[in-house]
Amino acid sequence: MHLAEAPEYVRFRAEVREWIETTVPPSIKGWRLGIVTGPGPTPQQMKPLEDALAVKGWLAPLWPKAYGGAEFDAQRLVILEEEMVLAGIPPYRNLNGINMLGPILIRWGTEEQRARFLGPTLRREMLWSQGYSEPGAGSDLASLALRGEVVEGGFVLNGQKIWNSRAHFADYLFLLARTDPQARPRQKGISFLLVDRRSPGIVVRPLITMDGFHHFNQTFFENVFVPRQNLVGPLNEGWTIAKALLGYERLTLHFANPVVIADAIAHVRQAARETGDGLGGVLWDDPGLRRRVARLELDAEAMRQTRLRYLSVLRRGEPPGPATMIFKLYGGELFQRVVELHAQVLGPCGALWDGAPFRHDIVEAGKHDAHIRHLTIGGGTSEIHRNIIAKRILELPDEGRAARA
Ligand SMILES: Cc1cc2nc3c(=O)[nH]c(=O)nc-3n(C[C@H](O)[C@H](O)[C@H](O)COP(=O)(O)OP(=O)(O)OC[C@H]3O[C@@H](n4cnc5c(N)ncnc54)[C@H](O)[C@@H]3O)c2cc1C
Repeated sequence: MHLAEAPEYVRFRAEVREWIETTVPPSIKGWRLGIVTGPGPTPQQMKPLEDALAVKGWLAPLWPKAYGGAEFDAQRLVILEEEMVLAGIPPYRNLNGINMLGPILIRWGTEEQRARFLGPTLRREMLWSQGYSEPGAGSDLASLALRGEVVEGGFVLNGQKIWNSRAHFADYLFLLARTDPQARPRQKGISFLLVDRRSPGIVVRPLITMDGFHHFNQTFFENVFVPRQNLVGPLNEGWTIAKALLGYERLTLHFANPVVIADAIAHVRQAARETGDGLGGVLWDDPGLRRRVARLELDAEAMRQTRLRYLSVLRRGEPPGPATMIFKLYGGELFQRVVELHAQVLGPCGALWDGAPFRHDIVEAGKHDAHIRHLTIGGGTSEIHRNIIAKRILELPDEGRAARA
């Protein structure tokens, strides 16, 4: 179901489709984004597409035109995302920098910071990783302990971060440091800093997860100097900025995109049509299974409409608020339901791993099922999201502490 689009948006959708048709090389199209975890196109293959998008301003659709963006409204943003996904084009590189940090620098950065960081970020010459979590500060982010001692000309960092996605590829980290340990409440005394990953005293170590990927790292800081001009926003007031960035993160998460979820559902449908039921038919003959697939499709469409309604907030220039938590929570759990159904449809094949002599997507299914566990943890866990939605949106009484908001 697609609710009718106004003529200007119908024209825009046609423009995007034609652009994809004429500009995007076949090697970057046709990827099953919803279900397969395997290697996608290489950075070298992605570069011409990203460059072409940047020239059009479409690489950073929410940024102002003055900084190389497109100043899209919500509907255009969604149409662009949808058409990219429908064409099977994987997410571009540096989304941490473009989707998360970019809007922060545009709103809170100095003109000097915008000039120094936005251009190279958009050109993917400066890749970013997020340095929020610590071994003792995940859900309860405000208890973070990485010390940022204020010294002449800047800060000296000592401590550790963990779960830093793609930090081994990053040129810079945006991170939270405790610059005033005495400040109360704990949310005060935290500052938002931009840190050159190659600064002396930084060590990045890999963390390999159960799906076999090297996505995560732990990052150690020993007497790392960060110049004062890399402080974003006021000293000790980084918590507000940190929360706004989490809003952008939740809103632009690839897996929380209803069209990506719809692609995964289509894959389940296809697998059910191709898998025998042991009775001479295929699993798709089972009305119970078809009903479950229809339920998932309806849920994905409802999420798409709700997200579209909410995105219009960004158009008015407000940073995304706690409502973005609904999309991350709902999208993550919905995606997990889809992948679990996919594994059930494949039966014993759903437990296969690398190297098994079957079609790539089937072999990847077990791995994907393991991989997809992260959806309800990264960017804040489902439990924390429920706590905060209860408190901030539903205004229920606060019985405990829920932090990563
Ligand atoms: C794919 C992925 C990418 C990530 N990328 C990054 C990154 O780039 N940079 C970064 O800084 N971090 C990153 N993280 C870390 C992520 O933000 C944390 O894992 C997350 O916030 C949870 O923190 P934790 O792992 O310390 O779990 P904990 O906070 O220790 O939680 C453990 C369990 O206790 C539950 N729990 C905790 N407190 C409460 C409460 N008050 N009420 C109810 N239940 C509670 C949690 O829900 C969870 O089930 C990433 C994580 C994932 C999975």
